[in-house]
Amino acid sequence: MVISSHPVVQSAPYEQNQDLTSPNRNLTPLGTALDDHHRLVVGGCTLSELARTYGTPLYVLDEATLRGTCRAYRQALAEHYPGPSLAVYASKANSSVALSALVASEGLGLDAVSAGELLTALRGGMPAERIVLHGNNKSKDELALAAGHGVTVVADNWRDLELLAELAPGLEGPVNLMLRFTPGIECHTHEYIRTGHLDSKFGFDPDQLETVLRHLQSCSWARLTGLHAHIGSQIFELQPHRDLAGVMADALALARSLGHPVSDLNVGGGLGIRYVASDDPPSIQQWVQTVAEAVVEACAARGLELPRLLCEPGRSLVATAGVTLYTVGSCKPIPGIRTYLSVDGGMSDNPRPITYQSQYTAVLADRPTAAATDTVTVAGKHCESGDVLLKDVTLPPAVPGDVLAVFATGAYNASMGSNYNRIPRPAAVLVGGGVAELVQRREQPEELLRYDVLPAHLAPIT
Ligand SMILES: *Cc1c(COP(=O)(O)O)cnc(C)c1O
Repeated sequence: MVISSHPVVQSAPYEQNQDLTSPNRNLTPLGTALDDHHRLVVGGCTLSELARTYGTPLYVLDEATLRGTCRAYRQALAEHYPGPSLAVYASKANSSVALSALVASEGLGLDAVSAGELLTALRGGMPAERIVLHGNNKSKDELALAAGHGVTVVADNWRDLELLAELAPGLEGPVNLMLRFTPGIECHTHEYIRTGHLDSKFGFDPDQLETVLRHLQSCSWARLTGLHAHIGSQIFELQPHRDLAGVMADALALARSLGHPVSDLNVGGGLGIRYVASDDPPSIQQWVQTVAEAVVEACAARGLELPRLLCEPGRSLVATAGVTLYTVGSCKPIPGIRTYLSVDGGMSDNPRPITYQSQYTAVLADRPTAAATDTVTVAGKHCESGDVLLKDVTLPPAVPGDVLAVFATGAYNASMGSNYNRIPRPAAVLVGGGVAELVQRREQPEELLRYDVLPAHLAPIT
């Protein structure tokens, strides 16, 4: 379905001083504006009209911002890295057929961590040779699916290698393999999203790397094409990424010295984004430049031919493009304590606040510039006291029916969502040039019963 919203007179940009070349540094999608009624406009569509047309909660994704981040990565890699390169979208951040197709059309690759994400990417037309399969506990079926399509498998542990060896006789050619190892690098981010330190479930321990590389010398079914490491997520520091280059170049030297013609160095993702005004992440250009220069330097110091440089941005590629719309419902003022303003979604469409104590920024979609005189806590509708989307934020006085717009929800919202309390999943629309297109249909309550099976002895007597 395609709808055109009313012609919009963009009287003013909404967010001043937007960084047009690195959208991860903005709070709002590129070109966010106010219409002639001072209502918020994204991608040329008035948000409250989208809410009326599609219902709420609604995920809105801005196409220009998505393409802007893809191009920022590609251009920065081309500018700062003298060898070949590929930016690979970490699709766990937001996996859909439409996003896979969009990212494929921008020339990026894609990282999947399950059969579901892999099938989604393939359906979106992502070429198999640009897909990598990750995961610390891949099933044999997932490995067979990936290897059968010619997808590169990132071996995370011995079990992956055992299962692939079992599958190999049934495959047409060798499996393209990358090895993931734990680089032993600490960074400052939430404990749950740190992956580079030694105490991590992901990847081979660095002490085992040589043993694995020697083992692979005798595995004719495997073609070792690359090495991979990922240090964590929502990282604002650049130094850990610089340090990673040295650790990976050492591993590359070792692998090549053992006769593996390793061409790819995959440094993972992790660049942070702005969720609240005080966040100040590096730009995509700064991040890429840092990584690229560090890899070039580390390879030069070891006399290594430059590898193809792969990176795997997830959050910084899609988060800022997303805005979630909710409808305001009940309000509970507790004198002297706080005022709860409840919306029609919550932890089932955005589990980040309850999981990581994440902060967000929100405005009323039709009065984004009105004086924010009330301090409220925006609560979801789930039966969980911790189901709070925004704690103690300021908003203009809100009434039931107002549309609340929460920014920077394009990553790790829809993809981490659930049906808790049997709440259906929201719809998602892609907006651009004043047109909105449905990319994810709204789930209906009856659809939630699809997988329920009633044993005969429990069947109601009619
Ligand atoms: C999560 C993850 C990413 C993406 O991380 P972001 O912080 O979203 O950029 C990339 N690679 C791997 C292996 C991951 O697990």
